[in-house]
Order: sequence, then C-alpha cells, then structure tokens
Amino acid sequence: MKHFDVIVVGGGHAGTEAAHAAARMGARTALVTLRADGLGVMSCNPAIGGLGKGHLVREIDALDGVMGRAADMAGIQFRLLNRRKGPAVQGPRAQADRKLYRQAIQAMTAAQPNLEVIEGEVAELLGGARVSGVRLADGSEIATRAVILTTGTFLGGLIHIGDQKRPGGRMGDSPSNALSANLRDLGVQLGRLKTGTPPRLDGKTIRWDALEMQPGDDAPEVFSFLNAKPFARQIACGITHTNERTHEIIRENLSRSAMYGGHIEGVGPRYCPSIEDKIVRFADKTSHQVFLEPEGLDDDTVYPNGISTSLPADVQEAYVRSMFGLEEVRILQPGYAIEYDYVDPRSLTQHLQLRAIEGLFLAGQINGTTGYEEAGAQGLVAGLNAARLALGQDLVGFSRTNSYIGVMIDDLTTRGVTEPYRMFTSRAEFRLLLRADNADQRLTGFGVELGCVGEARARVFGEKMEALEAGRGLMNALTLSPKEAAGHGLKLNQDGARRSVFSLLSFPDIELDDLTAIFPELGALSPEIAGQLAKDALYANYVERQERDVAAMKRDESWEIPADFDYSALSGLSNELKLKLSRARPLTLGQAARVDSVTPAALTLILAKLRQRQ
Ligand code: FAD
Repeated sequence: MKHFDVIVVGGGHAGTEAAHAAARMGARTALVTLRADGLGVMSCNPAIGGLGKGHLVREIDALDGVMGRAADMAGIQFRLLNRRKGPAVQGPRAQADRKLYRQAIQAMTAAQPNLEVIEGEVAELLGGARVSGVRLADGSEIATRAVILTTGTFLGGLIHIGDQKRPGGRMGDSPSNALSANLRDLGVQLGRLKTGTPPRLDGKTIRWDALEMQPGDDAPEVFSFLNAKPFARQIACGITHTNERTHEIIRENLSRSAMYGGHIEGVGPRYCPSIEDKIVRFADKTSHQVFLEPEGLDDDTVYPNGISTSLPADVQEAYVRSMFGLEEVRILQPGYAIEYDYVDPRSLTQHLQLRAIEGLFLAGQINGTTGYEEAGAQGLVAGLNAARLALGQDLVGFSRTNSYIGVMIDDLTTRGVTEPYRMFTSRAEFRLLLRADNADQRLTGFGVELGCVGEARARVFGEKMEALEAGRGLMNALTLSPKEAAGHGLKLNQDGARRSVFSLLSFPDIELDDLTAIFPELGALSPEIAGQLAKDALYANYVERQERDVAAMKRDESWEIPADFDYSALSGLSNELKLKLSRARPLTLGQAARVDSVTPAALTLILAKLRQRQ
C-alpha cells in the first residue's frame, strides 16, 4: 500500500492550494482527484479576486500559494475595484483566460516537489476517530497521517435546469455520493446549499460593435507580490442590460424555475443572486447590468455575468435574446443550479480539523463557502496544518487581527453558515490594517517561520522589508515645522510641533509629490517602496484608534440598546443587517453580537451611535 504524509481529496481551488501548501511544508503529499486534467478548472465565473476576495488572493500569495501567480499568468483584464475609495477597501480583480489559468495551475503542480497527483474517486475514509487512509472507488487503499477533504459541490451534487434534475458534481462531472454517505455514517453533520451559474454564450453571435465596452485599468495591478505586470494580452468586455421585456419573460415563467417551482431545498448565496431572485427581490428595478466576459483570448465562449439561473433552457434563450446586442445570440451551455451537501463548519477547529476525527481536515465549498478565493484560502490553512500534524508539529491558526483568512475561519467556525459564505471587507473589523497592499508585510514573515514560503519569495520579501525600513527611516528623519510647511504652501495646525514626512503623509490632502518637491532625497526611493510607505502612513493613526475601539467594544458588551433604536439610520450598516437587527430588537450590544450575520464592524457602528445618544 502506498503511504503519504498528507492526502488531499479534490483538485479544485481548495485542494490545489492545500496540496501545494502541504508539499511546500515538506510533507509527502498526494492529491487524489477525479480528473487530473481538471486541475485549475473554474466551475463558474472566469475571474479571480474582487472586493474582499482580492484581499484573500493577496494573502494566499503572501504565504507563497499558487492562486495569485496563476491569475497573473491568465489575467486578460485587470481592474482595481473601488479605486476611488481608500486602499483598505480596494479589491484587485482579474478576468481570466480559463485555459491559461488551467495551464498555469497544472504547470506549477507538475513542478512542485513532494507532490503526486493521483486520478481516482475517494469513496471512503479509513480509521475511526483517527484517520489512517482512504479507499478509492476501485477498491485500492492509500495510507496517510492526515486527509484534507476539498470536494466542492460534488458531495450529493444535484443539477437543476427548470423541472429537470440529474445527479452531477458540476456540468459534465459525476457527483461524489459514496463519500457523502460515508461521512454521514461517520456521524458528520451535513446540510444542503445551492449555487447557480449563467448560460454560456457564443461570442460570434453577439453584436459587439453595438455594445458599450469596458476596458481594464491603464496601469493594471496584478495579484502576486512577485510580479509587476500581467503576462497575457489585455482585452475589454462588453456591457448590456436586462430590460422590462426580459423581466416580463422571467416573471411569466417563474414557476418553471427550479428555485421558484419548489424543486430545490438548499439555500443559495444571497450576494450572488440568480436573475430570478433579482426580479423577485428588487421588483421595482426595471434593469440590471450584465457584463459580457470573454472566457479566453482564443475562445468564443462568453460568460454573461449577473444572470445565473435555474429556468428551463427555452426560457433562458428567450430572456437572453431580449437584451440589447444579444438578439441573435446562441447559447452554448444552459445555466443551471446545483445543490450539494456541506458540513457545518462549527464542527471544525480554527485549524480546519474536524473536532470529532483526528487528522481529518476540510476546506472550501464543503465548509459552506462560495468562491475560488475563499476555497483557496481555506485550502492553504488546511494544507499547512495537515502537514504540521503529519510532521509532529503544533498546529497554527490565523487571527482576525492579522488576516482576512483569520476573519473567515473565525466567522465559519464560531457562527456557522445559513447561506453560502463569501468574503466582504465589511466582515473585517480591522480592515484598515488588513489591506490587500500590505498582505506580504502581515503574513510573509509568518509564512517563512512556518516553512511554507520558498527561498525565492523569502529573499524578495527580505529585500523589500529592508527597503521599507530604510525608506521609513528617511521619512521619519525629514521633518517640517508648521511654519516651514506653510512656506511651501502646506496648511497644518499652528501648534508648533515638527512633523516627520511619514506623519505628514497621514494627512489626506498631502501627497508624496508635495513632499518630494520639498525634500528631493525622497526621489531616491523606488516608486513601489515610496508608494507603499505612503499607504502605510495614511492608515497609521487609524489603525491605532481601531485597535482601541475593538478592545473597548469587548468591554462594552453590556451596553443597553433602547427599544426605539433606529438601525435604518446607520449609514454604514448593510440593508441585510438593518432588517435582521430591526426584527430581532436585541436589548444589549452583547445580544446584538449574537444576531445572525452581525459582524464586529457592525457592532462598532451601533456602539458609536449609542455613545452619541448619551
Ligand atoms: P471545486 O472547485 O468544486 O473542486 C472540487 C474538486 O474535488 C474537483 O476537482 C472534483 O473533481 C474533486 N472531487 C470531488 N469529489 C471527489 C472524490 N470523491 N474523490 C476525488 N476527487 C473528488 N462561486 C462564486 O463565488 N460565485 C458564483 O456565482 C459561483 N457559482 C457557481 C456555480 C456553479 C454551478 C458551481 C459548480 C460553482 C459555483 N461557484 C461560485 C463556486 C466555485 O466554483 C467554488 O466555490 C469553488 O470552485 C470551490 O472550490 P473547491 O476547491 O471547494 O471545490
């Protein structure tokens, strides 16, 4: 019988990241997956990153994971979302060429020492309260010290198109039913969730010349701290809109949708609603934007972002063709919804190990999340901990104060999920500190200590940290009094205090260029280092204040909330939370904290309002 330190089951985004992390840690790792050529497949949207999700990709990259590097190789349109807002909430995103992404992941996997890919279906876990191996559907067995399950939407997967349903892990793949049954036998609590995907369109039948086009950024910001620019040719995507006719067609056929016809029991992602959901939930809106995203440079398939559906194929064709520019469009593959089993993540530790079975780790969609980035980030944590367990080392966790990874795992393992979980910047109370731009400063050193960061990245990181330290030293040494500043046209409080360049950069209206004009020696700093220090400086004061706020909030759990407290007046609170809190009417801040989906960031807003009312 073959023996590995770690076996990863599933070669999706969680499994790939888990297998690479375990292998980088020095564990002999097997990645068992249904199809070796499925490594790097994007089941849904051909895009990586976005708000909150882009932060996760940068964190994965900071720990030397593969997702950011693959996205840079495959990216055909890079956009920094929220560019006009502060760096803390900006989210890097790239539309990817599916084929290039798959090639990048497969090439990195082939080049990774300690990692063997085995094609097969894992049907059963071996061992009892302590996992000892896996049995494949062909009856063969592999022994191990740790197993990581990353089976995505495949456990008990059921595909719905209108009133038709058939078993499937995703379109074209069989589900993983034996393993699902085995987990039930082992007493693991399973629930049902669902997600959906839009129809794919033939780009040759779209009237591109009539459509508004959206290009990427002029200066694309890539994901990996090791890369400076994209590798592939950059393209624009098209924009169209649903209209009243589209909505009418959908409304008339709602009862034929799998979701509204009562065929689906699983709960779907509220933040990625199907077009049916949008028409029902936002009944007053007469139009929704639809991005037409090419799936590759030499691929005519187009992904219409924003219209995922479980309506029958004929209705899909009718509503898609009602949109401008798509009048003659041909559907290559219908949209569909998929229901699948997930494991209640409250049964996991912060290391993503199942409490009930030693050596069994879970990561990705199986834990109730949705999205490649959420999956990849969990895979990385499970991979490095499974390796540490197998190698006899202590397990390590991530905290809400050092990463979005920590925020996500804490949310999942302490609150569980009632719908597919996706990341948002609003979930992080320390978000001014946890920026996408400083993920390496927060995590790469930690990764080097753990042993999951390779030599090449460790060297680049070491050089960058030295340059940052020298730059910060220079910025702290150069100072201006308010009077001197006024002489250069900069307005400061006339309090007589001399301020360093670093502290002056925390003023939103003082730019690095203003200060370089006064102190030409700042021009010697590389633009990358100077720009990073400017971002660090901008947030330095806020971060301190934020840390104090959160510490105070922990003391303030007993604050009473008056019965007439108006949640709808809190502008920073999401509509979802306004509704949930208004319904729940918690009596204290402590009670509010336990209302489903309430984030620490939301509590900070409520507390600020309560303080104002005093
Ligand atoms: P997956 O990427 O699904 O990978 C699972 C892997 O496990 C596969 O390689 C499979 O072959 C393997 N496997 C399964 N069972 C076994 C077994 N028994 N033995 C061996 N190998 C096995 N995300 C969004 O953010 N927004 C969306 O709108 C969205 N829509 C989606 C729509 C659909 C139809 C689907 C299928 C997914 C959608 N997703 C969406 C989710 C996104 O694709 C997943 O979150 C992400 O791929 C999860 O990664 P994962 O690694 O957990 O699982």
